[in-house]
Amino acid sequence: MRVIVCGAGIAGLALAQRLAAQGAEVTVLERASGPRAGGYMIDFFGPGYDAAEAMGVLPRILELGYRVDELAYCDESGRRRAGLRYAQFARAAGGRVVSVLRPDLERALREHLGGHVDLRYGRTIAAVDDRVDGVTVTLDDGDELTAGLLVGCDGIHSAVRALVFGPEREYLRHLGFHTAAYSFADPAARAEIGGRMCMTDSLDRAMGFYGLRDGRVAVFSVHHSADPALPDDPRAALRREFGRQGWLVPRALAACPPSEGLYYDQVAQVVMPSWSRGRVALLGDAAYAVSLLAGQGAALAVAGAYLLGEHLARAASVEAALAGYERALRPVVLDRQETARKGVRWFAPTTRGRLRLRRAALAAARLPLADRLFANALVGKPSAVITGHRIRVG
Ligand SMILES: Cc1cc2nc3c(=O)[nH]c(=O)nc-3n(C[C@H](O)[C@H](O)[C@H](O)COP(=O)(O)OP(=O)(O)OC[C@H]3O[C@@H](n4cnc5c(N)ncnc54)[C@H](O)[C@@H]3O)c2cc1C
Repeated sequence: MRVIVCGAGIAGLALAQRLAAQGAEVTVLERASGPRAGGYMIDFFGPGYDAAEAMGVLPRILELGYRVDELAYCDESGRRRAGLRYAQFARAAGGRVVSVLRPDLERALREHLGGHVDLRYGRTIAAVDDRVDGVTVTLDDGDELTAGLLVGCDGIHSAVRALVFGPEREYLRHLGFHTAAYSFADPAARAEIGGRMCMTDSLDRAMGFYGLRDGRVAVFSVHHSADPALPDDPRAALRREFGRQGWLVPRALAACPPSEGLYYDQVAQVVMPSWSRGRVALLGDAAYAVSLLAGQGAALAVAGAYLLGEHLARAASVEAALAGYERALRPVVLDRQETARKGVRWFAPTTRGRLRLRRAALAAARLPLADRLFANALVGKPSAVITGHRIRVG
């Protein structure tokens, strides 16, 4: 079968690898002109880790990954106010967790593609004609491609979803935050961060820092915004929101790149009644974004790709495969989306009382038993969706 995949991010690359390995003819269309260099650190665990292992790409991800010792909340002068040992978190994930930069995760998946995938950069989809027996896609340069299946892996603002399922306002659930991410060169800040992931212990907003191997610092931020609309000048918006914070924040703001190199978006989930229609399916953030507050979007993108690939390889029809993939993954997605919504108030507390409560909870998390409860709350319910999946062929 021929499959068109729209988007060469985490979901698209993982799916292309699965399908090509099973003998499908795969064309991947990516809007960016080449692999995207910018990004942020991803904690990769749960069903995505299991799927990466089953796909054989895990050793490369571990090679490119980082070891983080601690999540440390630091005050205006850089003093540690609270924290969580990473080992506790790793234990809750069964020791199966790795921190990896998003571009490095994509690189590992790209290297694993094999030679049979037609990966086209600088291309997107302008129109979709979905028929009973297949789908015809018109590209932005006027070219037409026909296939047995089109899969939209084009992220939270999916063009495939807009073309086939309707406008994004029907599916996006804004969680009340904007987020930004970029990296900057600062060896002194890098040395101060050491092997920790450092977060500001601040009200209404949070900035987090990871030290990278090349002396750079990866920074991400989250701040409240009731309005999902993005500002015209994201760098100016960040400077406005974080301008009064101390410690590493002023240096990070001074090094913030203009729009090129700066990731900036609303924090949202995608909630859809169905992830497929006819011969068009959605995967990853396009179908079921859980948001960075759940910390598992990348993992669920890889897990979804693995499941979709397995179902397409084994089910009696494309329709049955799409239904099977959704039936297996939807309960896990719903659980992670709910966990993220519940955790919103702890991510960027809005009152001093809640900030103090978070410090107390982190201190209590060092106690035996409490540590497990706390880490389990971060990781979510264990899921055997990959390791124990039974494909119901029908
Ligand atoms: C700051 C931050 C921290 C995060 N931390 C974590 C974490 O710790 N753990 C975790 O598991 N997840 C984390 N996530 C979430 C994770 O990054 C996403 O869930 C994941 O990237 C989704 O992968 P995807 O392939 O579905 O979408 P994307 O990564 O968005 O990829 C979509 C791809 O499609 C391309 N594209 C877009 N539109 C088009 C178009 N019209 N035509 C062709 N191509 C197109 C894009 O260029 C891109 O390459 C975090 C997210 C953020 C923002």
